[in-house]
Amino acid sequence: MKLLKDRILAEGQALSDSVLKVDVFLNHQVDPDLMQAIGEDFCEHFKDHGITRVLTIESSGIAPAVYAAQALKVPMVILKKQTSKILNGQVFQTNITSFTKGTSYELTLSKDYINKDDKVLIIDDFLANGEAATGAARLVQMAGATVEGIGILIEKSFQNGRTRLEHAGYHVYSQARVSRLGEGIIEFIDDED
Ligand code: 5GP
Repeated sequence: MKLLKDRILAEGQALSDSVLKVDVFLNHQVDPDLMQAIGEDFCEHFKDHGITRVLTIESSGIAPAVYAAQALKVPMVILKKQTSKILNGQVFQTNITSFTKGTSYELTLSKDYINKDDKVLIIDDFLANGEAATGAARLVQMAGATVEGIGILIEKSFQNGRTRLEHAGYHVYSQARVSRLGEGIIEFIDDED
């Protein structure tokens, strides 16, 4: 998606050869117009998949996911990052290790907001090693629902997330695929425009 790639080039900062900072428009300050365009692009890509729910992970997935859900005319559900297990039987949980923070958390989905007939689009801001997306997909499966696709804003293609998700059989659509990061360097896989 050219619009997103242009913003990454203009405002993104490669903090190292593996971490990209996009706090200006996504992770700290949010550009609603860009998020709306991103949501509409996800809708265009997944519109024939019969999506009934968009799932995302708090907090940076929420802005793009809400616009995708609005465009697809379905509800959006936020997967919560809980610090500990909840033992009341009303939730599905799975343990995730965070790429950026090196900490782990219990990704949590209430049983009230998903059912076995759901066809789910999972949206997240970044794809690195695929921990978060794989965990989100596990929760969907625990609910007996179907993962129709995984939509990512920024894929770091030099990490193994996409390979892992595709090997597990998921349809992955990334709007910007970063092939290389370094001091002053942000390069993309030229897979479109
Ligand atoms: P994964 O679970 O695929 O290993 O990592 C994806 C998660 O880690 C995303 O939800 C995102 O929050 C965070 N993440 C991974 N890499 C980056 C990065 O380069 N920049 C930022 N801002 N977040 C990242």
